[in-house]
Amino acid sequence: MSQTILRFILPILLLTGMGISPCLALEKQDDVDALLDLSSQYLNSAPEKSIDVLTKLHVLQPTFNEKQRGRYYFISALSLSFMGKHKESVSLVESFIDKVNDPEFRVKFLYQLSDGYTLLGDHASALKAMNQSIVLLPNLVELGSKVTTLQAAITLLNSLHAYDEAMTYADRMYALEGNAVNTLSKCYGLANRIEIGFLRGDSQKAQSLLSEATRTCDASNRKVISLIVKSLATVDLIDTGRGEQGIKAGLPLLHEFSETNQNSDYVTQLEEAIARAYLTADHLTLAEHYGLQAFQRAKSEHVVHLMEKSSETMAAIKRAQGQLTSALEYYDINLALKKDVLDDQLQKNLAYQRVKFDTQDKANQLTLLEQKNKILTVEKKLQQRNKERLLLLIALAAILLSILAAWLIRTLQQKNLFRTSSQIDGLTQVYNRAHFMAVSTQLFNSASTTVSVVLFDMDKFKNINDTFGHAVGDWVLKTVSATVKSQLSKTTMLGRLGGEEFGICMHGSSAAEVLALTECCRAAVASIDTSPCGFHFPLSASFGIASRGIQGLLSFEDTLAAADKALYFSKNEGRNRVSVFQ
Ligand code: GH3
Ligand code: MG
Ligand code: MG
Repeated sequence: MSQTILRFILPILLLTGMGISPCLALEKQDDVDALLDLSSQYLNSAPEKSIDVLTKLHVLQPTFNEKQRGRYYFISALSLSFMGKHKESVSLVESFIDKVNDPEFRVKFLYQLSDGYTLLGDHASALKAMNQSIVLLPNLVELGSKVTTLQAAITLLNSLHAYDEAMTYADRMYALEGNAVNTLSKCYGLANRIEIGFLRGDSQKAQSLLSEATRTCDASNRKVISLIVKSLATVDLIDTGRGEQGIKAGLPLLHEFSETNQNSDYVTQLEEAIARAYLTADHLTLAEHYGLQAFQRAKSEHVVHLMEKSSETMAAIKRAQGQLTSALEYYDINLALKKDVLDDQLQKNLAYQRVKFDTQDKANQLTLLEQKNKILTVEKKLQQRNKERLLLLIALAAILLSILAAWLIRTLQQKNLFRTSSQIDGLTQVYNRAHFMAVSTQLFNSASTTVSVVLFDMDKFKNINDTFGHAVGDWVLKTVSATVKSQLSKTTMLGRLGGEEFGICMHGSSAAEVLALTECCRAAVASIDTSPCGFHFPLSASFGIASRGIQGLLSFEDTLAAADKALYFSKNEGRNRVSVFQ
């Protein structure tokens, strides 16, 4: 099985988004979840124990919820492939994948499927599974899932030599946005760009990205990826004839690799390149040492193309050492492997060509989906902004309206107050002279019925002022006004015409009614109890009545003057009486 950058990302794929948290495995309360956690925990460390746990889970199947069932199938598929039963693993995934709707979960199943098919040599089916997972990218939320999905695609495409497409996914990975995983995706994105760059022979481009990649990967604590990138660059140095430089850079890297315990293809590649560099420099013992290490590592990991490459190097070393029999043996091995590699490559090329259209179609589909998503997001944002703007406008309008309403009410109130205060006599709260005159004139002009004017004047009022003081005089004026007003209907107008003289203007009443009403007013005034003002004294007023139509009276002024005459008649007749102008 070929080991690439994917190997370093795989833990993200297996552990994220599925509630698998090995550290917490035994703290889970739920039996099923705890067992699922435990089995996934054992997958890497002790696969046979994982099988034991899965066997226990098998019995509990009827109690599974949907998520638990998904996890059970996924872990079962993984454990099968760990045991090398790829065919069984693939069948298991195929039997279940249609029931997996959650995209985050589905890409994991698709990865497992794609990996399984690759291991079975069915590259076309592997590509198809990969294509399905690629179109799910826009639906993925977790950055870890996005990175892993893209990495799985890149790895597969690289193995099929479809470098251009692999590069577009590397660029996509580099451009992924996020917070914590942001630098992580940048690190993997750059590492992939470098690896693809070297693979497709664009070493200048790859070298130019080197410092950014190591910086980014070191910053996101991905030292191993940093190491891989440096080792790729070192192999390139040796491949391009700078063997001495390559050895100098490569040996410390091999040491670092040994400290990380990473038994990866990158180590094999580096050892093989260093062996070649030593061979060129004629350091045959050292060349044999690294060449052999590379060959044995490739052999134990069953990486055919690296076995092929290192066996060729070993043959050349042995030939240089003069060990021709051994050299021949390596050449034989190499020849057989070359055929395998070529066959494998042919198979892969054929598979890629067959699925190429689908792959490109899916890549286009992905771009379209992403654009659609972007438009949707922008539309949503716009709608939200419009809504907010509308709400703001409504709020503003409401505020403005309430201010306006408050202002209006106040203005109206003030206007009303002003108007009333300009119409009302301050002391007695009956209409003042000006208003009485104006309204009476209007009444005379408009009313077609009888209109009468009654005038009355307090008798000997000066005496009251003189005897009890001005304040008592004021009290009398207020009390008389209220008393007379209480005798009148609401619509009949009472006004203070000046000093202690008042006027009443009424319409629609007969002469007898007016007379009777006036008599009531006179009697009411005369019966006012003055004790509330602190003094006891008699009160009276003299009244004069004049009605329109009597003796040719027409205008208000003439009628008022006639009423005045009648009033003086009352005064002359001895006061406290009512006289009618006739
Ligand atoms: P008569 O019966 O002839 O009408 O005698 P009189 O004393 O009522 O008449 P006169 O016109 O001599 O006196 C009116 C007095 O009314 C004079 C003035 O001091 C007083 N007066 C006028 N306006 C007010 C007022 O607003 N308050 C008080 N307390 N007195 C007022
Ligand atoms: Mg008077
Ligand atoms: Mg008077």
